Amino acid sequence: MKLLEVKCKRCGQALLTTAKSLHGLDTLKAAFGALCEQCVTPDERYALNRAIGEGIARVYGKTEKEA
Ligand SMILES: [Zn+2]
Repeated sequence: MKLLEVKCKRCGQALLTTAKSLHGLDTLKAAFGALCEQCVTPDERYALNRAIGEGIARVYGKTEKEA
């Protein structure tokens, strides 16, 4: 898996992130991926986890219907 180095958009700390995420989750990573653990707020973490869960459910639901 390829890793990219990005900088936290709040504190500037270097972060490693995966270049490619699961299908349909790239926009989530774009929105949240540039924050380090220290800068992400509980609200943002909750929103991200919820959005990822919904995204995964959507990806797997679609896969099951198409199979
Ligand atoms: Zn930070």
